[in-house]
Amino acid sequence: MNGFTYHEPTTWPAAQDLIAREPDATMLAGGTAFTLLLRQGLIRPTTVVSLRRISGANRILADSHGGLWIGAMATHSTVVRSPEVRRNWPEFADAAATVATLRIRNQATIGGSVAHADPASDVPVMLAALDAQVIVRKPNAAPRVPIDQLFIDTFTTSLAPGEFIESIQIAGRGPNTRAVYLKYTPRSVDDYATVSVAARAEVEEGRLRAPRIFLGAVGGRPMRAMSVEAALGDGTEARAFADAAALVRSDIDPIDDVRGSAEYKREMARVFVERALRTLVA
Ligand SMILES: Cc1cc2nc3c(=O)[nH]c(=O)nc-3n(C[C@H](O)[C@H](O)[C@H](O)COP(=O)(O)OP(=O)(O)OC[C@H]3O[C@@H](n4cnc5c(N)ncnc54)[C@H](O)[C@@H]3O)c2cc1C
Repeated sequence: MNGFTYHEPTTWPAAQDLIAREPDATMLAGGTAFTLLLRQGLIRPTTVVSLRRISGANRILADSHGGLWIGAMATHSTVVRSPEVRRNWPEFADAAATVATLRIRNQATIGGSVAHADPASDVPVMLAALDAQVIVRKPNAAPRVPIDQLFIDTFTTSLAPGEFIESIQIAGRGPNTRAVYLKYTPRSVDDYATVSVAARAEVEEGRLRAPRIFLGAVGGRPMRAMSVEAALGDGTEARAFADAAALVRSDIDPIDDVRGSAEYKREMARVFVERALRTLVA
């Protein structure tokens, strides 16, 4: 293992200054992925900037429109327990609760999960279905990036050197908005997903409008089920769900691995998309 210079700024501007001076610095959040990458020699940082002492970086706030502001350093456990999340988007808390074990959830942060961009991760898929915006810190700017545009491929985001995630925002829901996250883990409950589905829609009198559906673990990034969304159109009844869900096969690009063959994952994607749609209108 190589040595590195270690910094622990206590404010976002101080972190920003450090990173502006050293754009190749590696961020450290909860360290659950960072430590593995370091041990396996997959990263060899010369400078590490830990975000764990930044004041307020783990805070979760609710806005007056029912939205949420989630500091990048909020852990999965903080999300699960947050009264603000439970009140405004309980489905997001449910998704965070499916991650690994309590020990990992106590340490792993939401910002770290998004930045790590593992396509099998849970929270990024749910955030994509909720149309979350990522507040990115870069020199002299703090743009909001739609989360779907942040994910490029496996372990790859659109963040450039010198840019990092400060927070994530989720807009408030309408009175008829429903959402669900389903994670299929046939090997053990604390495993990564074999397939996961996050879905959100407006539901009135048993009909779905404006569905937004993303899947995890079946491609290099959270995969949007565009064909399913298009087939559902506006105002679809439950009897059309099975035919629409079958179209997901062409929206995803799974690989054979220890969690199943690509064909098995395609079939489970179909099953879980239909199940998610039925859950939305139940
Ligand atoms: C045993 C085990 C089981 C797991 N099971 C699951 C699971 O079931 N589901 C699931 O979703 N995940 C699972 N994970 C993954 C875990 O959720 C991620 O490792 C974690 O979310 C990363 O967050 P962290 O705070 O630990 O980030 P770190 O490990 O500190 O950082 C991860 C990466 O993101 C970068 N980074 C961190 N924060 C920022 C930031 N604010 N801005 C820019 N870059 C940043 C770091 O430089 C690093 O490259 C598991 C991990 C382990 C070790």
